[in-house]
Amino acid sequence: MEYSYISDLRSGKSSGTVKVRGWVQDIRRLKNVDFIILRDHTGTAQVTVKKSSGSLGVDPGAINRESVIEVEGENVQNSISKTGTEILANRINVINTSMAPLPLPVTDPVEADIETRLNNRFLDLRKPHIHHIFEAESELMWGIRKFLHGEKFVEVHTPKVVAAATEGGADLFGVKYFEMEAYLNQSPQLYKEILISSGFNRVFEVGPAFRAEKHNTVRHLNEFTSVDIEMAFSDHNDAMSMLERAVKSGIGSMKSAMDDRVELISKIETPSLPFPRITYRKCIDVLHDSNEDLEFGLDFTPEQLKIIGDGFEGFYFITEWPSTVRPFYTMINQQDESITNSFDLQYKDKEITSGAQRVHDPVLLEKRFRNKGLNPKDFEFYLNAFRFGMPPHAGWGLGLERLTMILLDLKNIRETSLFPRDRTRLVP
Ligand code: ATP
Repeated sequence: MEYSYISDLRSGKSSGTVKVRGWVQDIRRLKNVDFIILRDHTGTAQVTVKKSSGSLGVDPGAINRESVIEVEGENVQNSISKTGTEILANRINVINTSMAPLPLPVTDPVEADIETRLNNRFLDLRKPHIHHIFEAESELMWGIRKFLHGEKFVEVHTPKVVAAATEGGADLFGVKYFEMEAYLNQSPQLYKEILISSGFNRVFEVGPAFRAEKHNTVRHLNEFTSVDIEMAFSDHNDAMSMLERAVKSGIGSMKSAMDDRVELISKIETPSLPFPRITYRKCIDVLHDSNEDLEFGLDFTPEQLKIIGDGFEGFYFITEWPSTVRPFYTMINQQDESITNSFDLQYKDKEITSGAQRVHDPVLLEKRFRNKGLNPKDFEFYLNAFRFGMPPHAGWGLGLERLTMILLDLKNIRETSLFPRDRTRLVP
């Protein structure tokens, strides 16, 4: 007999005598009957063990919570049972016993603090509402991936151990690479651009990005998942259009697949396009109007982004960032050299994506390196790709965990990373 998932019992897809397997979430013992709440990744079912049923193979009272068991029995629809599904057990087999007590309860209504939860992440992830975050993230990513494939992007995989820092900054993890010094890559930026020179018209990558930023905030991880695209013969406007459509596709996928699983998802509006846009200069005006002062050329603080974000319902772009706060590869605006053809996608006060048209002229690129205090010689492998025919191009990088966090209205980015890496956490 084939095994059924618990959701199949509820939907009526499996009926009669069934076989299911999963974890023992709870056991309730009454005089004449025992109830086992059995959980698999699709839900919970009540397993009813009548004391009069005799030789089931095991004594339910001796099974520890969170042990893995399989049950064979009759599936009956039961509107009284909390789970809506009842299995009258004929046979129970304990596949693997859990130790007791559990270091972290799986069903406790009072949530433990995040550090205890992350220390015991394997148990924390068994909680359905936590597990659903990652199913939602997967659906979100699938919607974005499907969209990009439809737009003829090629999925690529670039190295994560590199010799040169993408942005030259100090936020780098050094690693020993045999007799050489190497770094964990901060972003696939340089490699995506090289691929544009190699004749890939459109590329995307979903992979880890490493930032040795010392600050410990609820929106930063030291290793996060970056969704990156780069497109040839395109500018920042093309990249923004691609981004808003990719985000919409991701949200659509998440909503349609998860509606019944994550309550919060039903509250997410499918955004209408195009997303509103506001220039950096206009943001400064907004700040001045609210008595916050900011000089042109500086980045916004979280408090300032909150004031700006208050003017928007949800997603919006901040465009035309000053060249002082954008990396060397960002294209300078032809009419006004103080600004760049760049954008950030924001949701209220949170940045989700940075993007831009990129510099494609190698002479300008070398100048930009020097302006940023970087030595072009350290980037020869990258510059070479610009010297032998590089098309104009544009792209963006989106933080997957941050987007999931925003969409599910979670307060800490650690909630959307299976095994977060932060300033103090390297285990599990
Ligand atoms: P922030 O200003 O929020 O620190 P950033 O300007 O350094 O971000 P970019 O380098 O432009 O970010 O990266 C693009 C996107 O990648 C960000 O919009 C964000 O979604 C994500 N991202 C960047 N750094 C982190 C991080 N440390 N943890 C999680 N996500 C990040």
